Amino acid sequence: VQAETLLEVNNIEVIYNHVILVLKGVSLNVPKGGITALLGGNGAGKTTTLKAISNLLHSERGEVTKGSVKYRGNPVHNGDPADLVQKGVIQVMEGRHCFEHLTVEENLLTGAYTRKDSKADIQADLDLVYSYFPRLKERRRSQAGYTSGGEQQMVAMGRALMSKPETILLDEPSMGLAPQLVEQIFQIVKSINENEGVTFLLAEQNTNVALRYAHYGYILESGRVVMDGPAADLRENPDVKEFYLGMS
Ligand code: ATP
Repeated sequence: VQAETLLEVNNIEVIYNHVILVLKGVSLNVPKGGITALLGGNGAGKTTTLKAISNLLHSERGEVTKGSVKYRGNPVHNGDPADLVQKGVIQVMEGRHCFEHLTVEENLLTGAYTRKDSKADIQADLDLVYSYFPRLKERRRSQAGYTSGGEQQMVAMGRALMSKPETILLDEPSMGLAPQLVEQIFQIVKSINENEGVTFLLAEQNTNVALRYAHYGYILESGRVVMDGPAADLRENPDVKEFYLGMS
């Protein structure tokens, strides 16, 4: 049985500042319950694709000028970013963006801000986040600005989890992290996906690690999808091996 498509990006074009054409017709499908990877080098358009989906282009003078983005069949492009959050889609930005002056735990609690649950529910969710990220429990009273890059990535992911999302858009989780930590972060993505049923669309330059954890991959080059397929097939593809996995 084919999984239901949650997110459908259909032939989108994105232009910055009215003139700079960055996405030249990108299409992709994100099935419910899967981990989908958006791969490609620096400047290929991965972040732009995620921001087009979550409606975060306006502040950068970017605009979806063609095509459509649908979530559960409903058009969402060029809408209000808050509507998408309401629908259960949350983006974890590249560079993490923690509130540096708040503690780790206060950062996590900001992720629950749209919810009207009781204190006990919110505490249960905090406990869940700490079960995936035991390190954050140890660091819960530390000011986020003084934690390491890996811990800040965990805070950003934990905060997203606090909003009980259906789908997480994760931008470049490996950025700036040591290989061992990258592996750990992807392990956690995998267990959140398997245990909580959260759907992931993740943008990643690290093709090697992403294709070991994702189910399906899209490869972007200069604003176009040049290849896509099940992760296992992409890993074996000679062009992917040569150009993205550094083997030939
Ligand atoms: P990275 O790994 O560097 O984030 P990426 O694949 O995510 O790469 P994007 O950040 O989406 O790529 O950038 C795609 C292209 O769009 C790049 O050429 C970039 O210079 C350009 N670009 C990004 N943001 C803007 C902006 N606000 N105004 C103009 N051009 C932009």
